[in-house]
Amino acid sequence: HEKLNIVGIPVDNLKREQFLSLVYQELNQKQKNIFIVTANPEIIMNAKNSPSYRNALLQADYIIPDGFGVIKASNILGNPLPEKITGYDLVHTFLSYASETGKSVYFFGAKEGIAQEAINKAKELYPNFRIAGTKHGYAGLTENVAEEIASAAPDFVFVGLGAPMQEEWIASYQHLFPHSVLMGVGGSFDVLSG
Ligand code: UDP
Repeated sequence: HEKLNIVGIPVDNLKREQFLSLVYQELNQKQKNIFIVTANPEIIMNAKNSPSYRNALLQADYIIPDGFGVIKASNILGNPLPEKITGYDLVHTFLSYASETGKSVYFFGAKEGIAQEAINKAKELYPNFRIAGTKHGYAGLTENVAEEIASAAPDFVFVGLGAPMQEEWIASYQHLFPHSVLMGVGGSFDVLSG
C-alpha cells in the first residue's frame, strides 16, 4: 500500500478497516512481529529533530495518522489520508479483538499499580482476552525487563512509556517478540485506570 512522506516519516495511506485486517492477518500468520506507531504531530516533529528517534520510527511496520493535524498536513501536501486512527481508540479495538479471539495482552508502562488497574478495567469491558502480565514503567529500561515481558509471549504488547521512549524501547527489543503486535500507547493506562 501507499505511504505518504510527512517531513521524512512515511505515514500509511490506509483506511481503518484495511489497516485492521492487515494487522490481524499478520498476527494470525505468526511469521513476524508487527510494530505500530500512532503518529501524532508531536511524534512527527520529534522525529524531525532527533535522528535516533527517526530511525526507531522507520523500523515500524505501520505508521498511522493519529490526530487531525496529520490529516491536515496530508491535505496540504496534496495527498489526503483517508481518516485518522486514534491511538487510544486502537487500544480498545485491539482489546475487543483479543477478547473475541482469546489472545493475550501485556500492559507495560505508567506508575506502579496503574497498568494492573488498567488491565482489570479492560477485563471488565472485554472479558475474554488473556492477561499475559503487567509491569510499571519505572523499573529501568533494561534488557532484563524486556526479557521478562517477552517470556510471557504476549500477542499484544502495549507500551505506555510516552514518546519518544516507548517507540525507542520497541525498536530496541522487538527482536525478542517474534510474533507480537507492539504499540506505544502514551498515557492510555492512566486513562483506562481512571
Ligand atoms: N512513563 C513511564 N516511565 C517513564 C516515563 C513515563 O512509564 O519513565 C509513563 C507515564 O507514567 C505515563 C506515560 O508514560 O503513563 C506517558 O504519558 P503521556 O501522557 O506523557 O504520553 P502521551 O500520551 O502524551 O504520549
